[in-house]
Amino acid sequence: MPITLLSLNTDATEYLFRRLMTRIAVLAGLMHCAFALLFALADVVILAWVNVVSVLCYVAVFWAARTLWAKTAWSLAIGEIVLHAMIASYLIGWNVGFHWYVMLIPPVIMVSPLLLGRIKLPAAVAFIGVYIGLDVGLREHQPLFHLDAVVINTLYYFNLVTIMAVMVLLAAIYFQLVVNNDQRLRQMAITDPLTKLHNRRSIESYVQHWLQTQTDPATLSFLLCDLDHFKHINDMHGHHAGDQVLVAVANVLQQSVREQDMAARWGGEEFLLMLPDVPTPTAMSVAERIRAAIESLDIRHGNQRLPVSVSIGVCTRQPKETFAQSISRADRALYQAKDQGRNCVVLDEPKASV
Ligand code: GH3
Ligand code: MG
Ligand code: MG
Repeated sequence: MPITLLSLNTDATEYLFRRLMTRIAVLAGLMHCAFALLFALADVVILAWVNVVSVLCYVAVFWAARTLWAKTAWSLAIGEIVLHAMIASYLIGWNVGFHWYVMLIPPVIMVSPLLLGRIKLPAAVAFIGVYIGLDVGLREHQPLFHLDAVVINTLYYFNLVTIMAVMVLLAAIYFQLVVNNDQRLRQMAITDPLTKLHNRRSIESYVQHWLQTQTDPATLSFLLCDLDHFKHINDMHGHHAGDQVLVAVANVLQQSVREQDMAARWGGEEFLLMLPDVPTPTAMSVAERIRAAIESLDIRHGNQRLPVSVSIGVCTRQPKETFAQSISRADRALYQAKDQGRNCVVLDEPKASV
C-alpha cells in the first residue's frame, strides 16, 4: 500500500513539474528573445546569437516537457543556464549577473521528482561546485565587450529582480504542492476507496468530536445497516457484483442524509449513519425510507436483477452514553432485525439500555 501511495504521489508531482517546465520554457524563451534584440542593438552580435540559440533551446525544452520527456527538458534547461552564464560572463562581465541563474539549480534539484533521492544531494553539491568554478574563473575576468553603463545597470537589476521573482515563484509552487498532497492524503485516510463514503475511523473521530462540542444530553441517532445475505450475492454472482451492490447501496445512503449527517462504511457490508439532532421517530422514518429505497434498487448483473435488502438497527443516544455503548445498542437492534427475518428496521428502546 505505501508503494501505491508513493507512486501516485510521484505521478502527480511529476505532472505538475512538467507543467511548470513548460511555463518556465515560455518565459525564458521570451526573455532570451528580448536579450537577443538588446545585444543586437548594443552591437554584441555574438551574444545576440547566443541568445538566439537559448531561444531555440527553450523551444526544445517546451516541446520535451509537453511530450513527457521531462528529464530531457530538465537537462536541456540546466545546460542552457550554465552555458549562458559562462558565455555571458566571459563576454560582457561577471557584474551583469547572468551567473545568478545557476544558483537556482541546486534547490530545484532537491525538490525535483525526476531524480532519485540518493543522487539529489551529490547532484546539488556538484552544481554548487559548478557555480564556485564559474566564480573563480570569471569574477576577475576582464570582459571582451564593454557595454554602456546604462545597459550594464539595466541588465544587472533585471537579472536581480528576475532571480528573486523566480525564487519566490518556486517556493510558492512547492508550498502549494505540499499543501495539495497533504489534503489528498488526508482525504484518502478518511475515505473508503470502494464506496467513497467516510470510513470507520472518520465517523468514529467525527462522532467523538461532535459529542465534545455539545452540552449533554445531545440528541443523536444512529442507524446501523447490514446487507442481507450478502455472502450469497458474492457466491452466486462473484465479488465484482458484490462490489457493485455495495456502491449502489452507498449511493442511496449518501443521498438519504442531510449535510450535517454522516454516512460511513462501518465494515464489509455494514454501514453506519449518524444523524445529529434527530429524535427517535424521525430516525425510524429515515431508516424505513432507506430500507425501502434499497429494496427497490434495480441492480443488474448480466441480465439478472440482484436481490438486495438491508436490516437496520436504530438507536438514539442516551444521556452520558459513550459512542461505543450507543453502537452496541444499535448492533443489538440490528441482531433482532436479522432474527425477525431481515429486510426490516428495529429500534433499541431507551429503557433497554439501562
Ligand atoms: P446476513 O444477512 O446475516 O448479514 O448474511 P450475510 O451473508 O450478509 O453476512 P456474512 O457476514 O455471512 O457475509 C458478509 C460477506 O460480505 C462476506 C464477505 O466476503 C463480504 N464482503 C465484505 N467486504 C466485501 C467487499 O468489499 N466486497 C465484496 N464483494 N464483498 C465483501
Ligand atoms: Mg455483517
Ligand atoms: Mg450481512
